[in-house]
Amino acid sequence: MRRKIAAGNWKMNGTSAALAELEALAPHLVQDGPDVVICPPAPLLYRAAEMAKASGIHIGAQDCHMQASGAFTGDISAAMVADTGATFVIVGHSERRDAHEETNGDVRQKVKCAWAAGLTAILCIGESGEDRAANNTLDIIGGQLSGSLPDAMTATNTVIAYEPIWAIGTGLVPSLEQIIEVHDFIRARLITRFGHDIGNAIPLLYGGSVKPDNAETIFKAENVDGALVGGASLRASDFAPIIAALAAS
Ligand code: PEP
Repeated sequence: MRRKIAAGNWKMNGTSAALAELEALAPHLVQDGPDVVICPPAPLLYRAAEMAKASGIHIGAQDCHMQASGAFTGDISAAMVADTGATFVIVGHSERRDAHEETNGDVRQKVKCAWAAGLTAILCIGESGEDRAANNTLDIIGGQLSGSLPDAMTATNTVIAYEPIWAIGTGLVPSLEQIIEVHDFIRARLITRFGHDIGNAIPLLYGGSVKPDNAETIFKAENVDGALVGGASLRASDFAPIIAALAAS
């Protein structure tokens, strides 16, 4: 049985008042159910991690730097993330690959830093709308996987999130068949590269406009082990039904 994970990415949303959503979410965690991870903005990490100790919610950062330390004004290292009490970090989100021009090589370095700090990396990969229209989806996904995933992956240090860029924040969602095709492809690639035990143990999350009303359908796919959720993770009232749908899947 693979770990099921419902992860929320708050992006650049929320100040102290948003921490009330963690309290509101806590009663919706399911005993022996999915792991719930919330990735708030960096200034909230420490307080979120302190609050989450009692509830069992896991806290993650949205990014970390690709070096362990140094003259990088404004950046945050993986060790700093871990020091807040957070245990996960998102790396390679398409908004970072795009707005910050992060390459697969940069993302690979970030994953290594995350592992060195004892964090679980949530590695994001996904094709653009143009890639999808040109039938290049699997080539792009395969290239991102080999380029941004280091060799030292274990069964527990990584989660992979398939996030088609054209589905993020747009309300557009791939068909279940399209999701299944990509997730099965990722699983097969992981098994080929890392062997059956490790390749089969890695949770694969789908991300891109997951909402309470489409979660149940998306979680029907065998190789979908959860979701990385943006907009619908900001309020506990939206995220709770997604967690419930994953628990029931
Ligand atoms: C995301 O940013 O990772 C994401 C999936 O966003 P949304 O759920 O809002 O599409």
